[in-house]
Amino acid sequence: MTFDVAAIREQFPILSREVDGKPLVYLDNAATTQKPQCVIDALVDYYSTCNSNVHRGAHRLADEATQRYEGARDIVAGFINADCREEVVWTSGTTEAINVVAHGLAQLLKADDEVLVTEMEHHANLVTWQQACKQAGATLKVAPICDNGELRVDEFEKLLSDNTKLVAFPHVSNSLGTINPVKQLVQLAKKVGAWVLVDGAQGIAHGAVDVRDLGCDFYAFSGHKVFGPTGIGVLWGRKSLLEEWPVWQTGGEMISEVTYQDARWNELPYRLEAGTPHIAGAIGLGEAIRWFSELDFDGMKAHETALMESATRQAEAFEGLTIIGNSPEKTGVLSFVMDAGHPADIGFLLDRQGIAIRTGHHCAEPLMNRLGVPGTARASFSIYNTLEEVDALFAALKKVQMMLA
Ligand code: PLP
Repeated sequence: MTFDVAAIREQFPILSREVDGKPLVYLDNAATTQKPQCVIDALVDYYSTCNSNVHRGAHRLADEATQRYEGARDIVAGFINADCREEVVWTSGTTEAINVVAHGLAQLLKADDEVLVTEMEHHANLVTWQQACKQAGATLKVAPICDNGELRVDEFEKLLSDNTKLVAFPHVSNSLGTINPVKQLVQLAKKVGAWVLVDGAQGIAHGAVDVRDLGCDFYAFSGHKVFGPTGIGVLWGRKSLLEEWPVWQTGGEMISEVTYQDARWNELPYRLEAGTPHIAGAIGLGEAIRWFSELDFDGMKAHETALMESATRQAEAFEGLTIIGNSPEKTGVLSFVMDAGHPADIGFLLDRQGIAIRTGHHCAEPLMNRLGVPGTARASFSIYNTLEEVDALFAALKKVQMMLA
């Protein structure tokens, strides 16, 4: 079966819009992905037909909303091959998912404990652990990368010790596109008995994710990066761990019994989901995952590889342009700098040509400092991008170069 990009594009209404009379070329997918019509419809349908609070209502709308909401949890649990649906905790996104774990960890860490991260972290997977370590008087260690953006697995291993309580790293780097050898890193961390959190923000939209096969303890991702709505995300965690994990926020839904003096916590997943959840968001994410999981993943991978290969080939041949991040295992991201001008100017001038990319430090300021760049211009690709759009990017960059000369 061939991967029919044109048929996929037709399902995304926004892709047919124009920017200043020019066709939109959307290459900012690492920031957020666009939404297919079925996801938009799921949101509209929920609000139009069964808007209600979940779990607590004794009426038809509440039942229907609860069914859709909990049905979405089942879809996600199936997609990531969770052991059971209780392991899927709704959060507002990757950031909150990591915060749930870090907040609990801060209470479990002792002074001589260590947390290990990498030099390629997004701030969401760095500042959280910094703060947890500070709170507990524990130490944060940072595994180095090579100049090409690949993790130094040998150094990562050396930094592990019996004191390592938790290891956190991205499945895929948002700034460089590096794909980390997740299973290998998990195996190394497990040798010293550390828990492992994988930041899946950029990993989730590039194929099947099997949390059991990866062997990690936590996997965090955002709905909006996998064709779903903003404001909803997932913390997957091992049931045995989440059952005991210190609660995050307190309030309604997460309790089983309350007196004026005390409270007992609800069972999973509700003990980690205080308050009225983002019901529409969860339903929309369920629909996004249903839609995504029905794609031909082999065809998708081949298409994404073709996009990356074309982009890399053209970037390498482009005089005055330097690719930032050349890991042999890479997906979705072309980060670069140009002699002609600052990344912000490049982004501005591309936008004038209808091409949307992102510029700056990509929420990875220490990584930019490590690589000696103020920031990069980042084109990030998704399944609906075409080879013609990659060509359009480079034709536009030629014009940018002339404009800045
Ligand atoms: N981690 C990585 C690798 C990311 O790329 C992002 C967002 O770009 C995040 C974490 C944070 O995701 P969110 O802002 O959706 O919580």
